[in-house]
Amino acid sequence: MSTGTNWRQYAACIGIDPRAFFPVGYHARAQVNAARRVCATCPVRQQCAAFAIEVGEHNGIWGGMSQQELRQKRRRFRARTDTTSPKPPAKKREPAKCGTRAGYQKHLREKTEICAPCRQANTDADNRLRRTGTTKASA
Ligand code: SF4
Ligand SMILES: [Zn+2]
Repeated sequence: MSTGTNWRQYAACIGIDPRAFFPVGYHARAQVNAARRVCATCPVRQQCAAFAIEVGEHNGIWGGMSQQELRQKRRRFRARTDTTSPKPPAKKREPAKCGTRAGYQKHLREKTEICAPCRQANTDADNRLRRTGTTKASA
């Protein structure tokens, strides 16, 4: 979303007294409602609200929203964008493949039936261990 103001030319409030969008005093509530009705027909109310949030407007109705609503939206917006260090996506561990000793151990962990390739891989590893002192297949 850009802070440009090109959207203003499409604003439904063009030609309306801008004071209508800065409610004050006794008639403020009625004024807010009137302003909202104009904004409701406005094709650029998203841009308008985004603009008010970006520039930190602290007065008036923008995009059909009162200052209170804009503040809430601003907070949510900040919460979304002010993450100083976004978490890197969790590194997915390769699931243990069947036919490996890791697969065999996975079967044990998850108490699933040990399939033939895994049983074989485990036996092979055991035999290697007996022969060579390591479960690693020799290169
Ligand atoms: S949303 Fe409302 S205040 Fe904003 S440009 Fe449209 S009519 Fe004007
Ligand atoms: Zn398996």
